[in-house]
Amino acid sequence: MQSTVPFNAALLNKYDTFGPRYTSYPTALQFSPAFTRDDYLAALARSNAGGKPLSLYFHIPYCESLCFYCACNKIITHTRERARPYLENLYREVGLQAERVAGREVRQLHFGGGSPTFLDDEQLNGLLQHAEGHFNFAPFTEREFSIEIDPRTVGDNTIALLRDYGFNRLSLGVQDFNQEVQRAVNRLQSVEQVQAVLDAAARAGYQSVSMDLIYGLPHQTLDSFSQTLETVIGMRPQRLAVYSYAHMPQKVKAQKLIVSETLPDAVTKLGLLELSIQRLQEAGYVYVGMDHFALPEDELVVAMQNGSLQRNFQGYSTHAETDMIAMGVSSIGKVDDCYSQNQRHEKHYLSDLAADQLPVMQGYRLSEDDKLRREVIQRLMCQGEVDLAEIEAQYSVRFDRYFSESLDALAPLAEDGLVQVDSRYIRVLPLGRLLVRNIAMCFDAYIKPAREQRFSRVI
Ligand code: SF4
Repeated sequence: MQSTVPFNAALLNKYDTFGPRYTSYPTALQFSPAFTRDDYLAALARSNAGGKPLSLYFHIPYCESLCFYCACNKIITHTRERARPYLENLYREVGLQAERVAGREVRQLHFGGGSPTFLDDEQLNGLLQHAEGHFNFAPFTEREFSIEIDPRTVGDNTIALLRDYGFNRLSLGVQDFNQEVQRAVNRLQSVEQVQAVLDAAARAGYQSVSMDLIYGLPHQTLDSFSQTLETVIGMRPQRLAVYSYAHMPQKVKAQKLIVSETLPDAVTKLGLLELSIQRLQEAGYVYVGMDHFALPEDELVVAMQNGSLQRNFQGYSTHAETDMIAMGVSSIGKVDDCYSQNQRHEKHYLSDLAADQLPVMQGYRLSEDDKLRREVIQRLMCQGEVDLAEIEAQYSVRFDRYFSESLDALAPLAEDGLVQVDSRYIRVLPLGRLLVRNIAMCFDAYIKPAREQRFSRVI
């Protein structure tokens, strides 16, 4: 796949619609409460027979203050004590999950939130000790352990403590360094705070640091965001994600605190995207896909080039498919051919575990059609091409017949130069790389016009 992406404002405007990010297919909109705890247990039992390595996800929902743009599932509190009953029940969940997958090796682990660094060192240490005591962690050198860091709430000791457990990747929320923007979204965070985390990570020997930026925030201008980009480029993180801010105050309550009139207009927003792509590529970053950039030697770029890149709930990953066991309120896991989600409300999460029950709220078991479409969408998003003969052999279908509607839907995109379709391959062309969601949506059996606004905009 070509590593630089051209920018075409007319095409981006033409195809700017609402679309899923495809961290799963089908998306969480298809999850249903008809999928029960028993269904999850049956999926775990089936997956044990395959014995794939495991990936663990822990959701820590607490944050000290509210960032007004945030659409995550989080609980704002200043009281660390608030996490105590949650952690006690998370320990219970670790016990309930681990006893059912005894012996399977944990290669990947991710702490997300909320803000995992809301927990103090004693709480983090306790949780990791408990997890290591119950699950079978891979040898230190084979672990890919990562955590989302809020630079405002983390100290050097925490960075070193996590390294002792084999954490090797840090993901830092930065968003924008401009103070007017920071005030408007209620996230004041200095360059020095971020640099201090980078210094601590370097001292502790972390392999990779990634940073998140957001474009489209209030008061952002090309000049102001350009300064943020230069500061970040100077810090040289291995990976960068540059997300588009989706302003949906009717759905995300916190966003009502953002004054709509202060948001950049559509032309400026597109300009911010163009600026980001241009500057990051000039600075040597490679566009991996869907908002993600990395330095050429990074594993994500290598995986993109050799065709082993994967997409999962955390975005892009280099690991071949693992079963993902997700723990904590609202977390989503993937086991065997099922997705399952824990209770979304803390109260229900705690009461299920107090009754010694896994807190499964809803989920989904994939049909054969879902698996086939997921494969095609995954290949488009990660490899940028679909080898039709491979799909036909793997799923015993005639591609052109099975996907005749999808191929019809792709035709206008092919005319616009986003994608090339012939009798052997579907290939995402350079112009289509920023619009890969639109290409993938042609293969999504659940996309319906009425539902489109449940997703964020493509740009
Ligand atoms: S952006 Fe992060 S720190 Fe801010 S409210 Fe959301 S989860 Fe919490």
